[in-house]
Amino acid sequence: MHGTTGQANATKYIFVTGGVSSSLGKGIISASLAKLLQARGMKVTIQKLDPYINIDPGTLNPYEHGECFVTDDGAETDLDLGHYERFLDVRTSQANNITTGRIYQSVIDKERRGEYLGRTVQVIPHITDEIKRCVQILGEGDRYDFVITEIGGTVGDIESLPYIEAVRQMRWERPQDTLVVHLTLVPYLSAAGELKTKPTQHSVKQLLEFGVQPDVLVCRTEHELSKSIRNKLARFCNVNVEAVIQSIDASTIYDVPLLMQEERLDEVVLNKLGVDSTGPMDLGPWMNFLQKHKNPEQRVDIALVGKYVELKDSYKSIAESFTHAGAAVGVQVKLHWIHSEQIHAENAQDILSDMDGILVAPGFGSRGIDGKIEAIRYAREHNTPFFGICLGMQCAVIEFARNVVGLREAHSTEIKDYTPDPVIDLMEEQKGLADMGGTMRLGAYPCALTEGSLAATAYGMDTVEERHRHRYEFNDAYRDRFIEHGMRPTGTHPDSNLVEIVEITGHPWFVGAQFHPEYKSTVETPHPLFKAFIEAALNEKTKGGVTQKSADQDTASA
Ligand code: GLN
Repeated sequence: MHGTTGQANATKYIFVTGGVSSSLGKGIISASLAKLLQARGMKVTIQKLDPYINIDPGTLNPYEHGECFVTDDGAETDLDLGHYERFLDVRTSQANNITTGRIYQSVIDKERRGEYLGRTVQVIPHITDEIKRCVQILGEGDRYDFVITEIGGTVGDIESLPYIEAVRQMRWERPQDTLVVHLTLVPYLSAAGELKTKPTQHSVKQLLEFGVQPDVLVCRTEHELSKSIRNKLARFCNVNVEAVIQSIDASTIYDVPLLMQEERLDEVVLNKLGVDSTGPMDLGPWMNFLQKHKNPEQRVDIALVGKYVELKDSYKSIAESFTHAGAAVGVQVKLHWIHSEQIHAENAQDILSDMDGILVAPGFGSRGIDGKIEAIRYAREHNTPFFGICLGMQCAVIEFARNVVGLREAHSTEIKDYTPDPVIDLMEEQKGLADMGGTMRLGAYPCALTEGSLAATAYGMDTVEERHRHRYEFNDAYRDRFIEHGMRPTGTHPDSNLVEIVEITGHPWFVGAQFHPEYKSTVETPHPLFKAFIEAALNEKTKGGVTQKSADQDTASA
């Protein structure tokens, strides 16, 4: 660690709790603080503790919990881990997301193995010890200077009590190495024309009841916090006035690190932990990104076709990938969220003709499949740049089979058990699995790219690693027929030969990926496929858009 004045070289643990209301953005505050520490040359990781009983969010419906983010090691995790990776450009793993289900499972497994030597197993100390173990495991081996642990839920929730108790114990055991940041809301009452501190006071009181004194208050607010409001909060909540940090609504989440820097959140945290805060700070690449993001030269309109579009968190990583890639290409990407159930053969033209590119999203199950297939048909026939991800790629294969290869009843066996042409079929290793949780093909796998393909050109490499989350795959028995008709695999798994990417020859940009490129896009490393897709969309737009699209479609659909 750089310039530690306290206990030498000990990893510091920062806990981020939330009060007053959910959805205040603990994930973004945690990621922003981490970014500032990282910009000072510190090694930082962020962890999310989720108080629900599910082992992981892999089995949760996106309506419940937004997107499920997948790590390299195949963990299905909370979408906040996506923010952590996008902000820090550092990979996370299973150890970065722990749920109550996982904690209890591990304690119960130990109990069954007799490891508690006949003692009664209780929330305190056994569950709290397991929580502390999961936190401190990240600090082992000097891998990180800082471990930032975000505690899901709101202080006072019954289910988060063991976590707050674990924080209390760690504060007691390692006072020099631990710190608590409490995120609250300071609401504005327009009738009174005033910002109100009482909810924050109450929420800090609640934390105090559990024995935890926050060191820093981060206050979400729609209006500037005056000096007197800050003083009042400091006085009632026992924090220094400089540790009352305003977090005012921002136009983009990527502004939050800078807003936190202005408020000196990083400095306050370092000083409290006895770490030298005078060193230089390099936010250069971040500032470059923001500069480009805020000053686009052109705009492209992209349709995002999916079945969860009412809840934008369901496609969080895809939307953020467009932000990163858009900045890199110098364009504003205007996303049009289109519900796949609304697209039919008759209205596809009306809905999609103004789009410069069409992305068909990942998903599970049959709802909205027909609309996805119609959107793909439109993209293929009108030479609109197309990007299909996971289920989106599988739908592209079905569409091509039906309308180009001539297999009218082709389908995926996920959607239809009995089809004469199962062009998408269950993977061999998936057959016979009964458990739903954690049993998909998950995590990073290598993918060998075909020279000269759109994918190889975009990546500028011949082998890449991408993350997966699926049970079904392209049915290899149809490979030759597809190639004959103009759809070719351009990315395959080197050992098993599984098809990971398909492209259509003669189309300006038609790429389907079985993996999820969106999980690997970060602010500082935008994803090559998203960049290439946006470039293709821009290209088509400047060529004159749909009106001048060539007759290439005849080759593709002959
Ligand atoms: N449902 C498909 C499968 O399991 C696609 C999954 C996805 O889009 N993530 O193969």
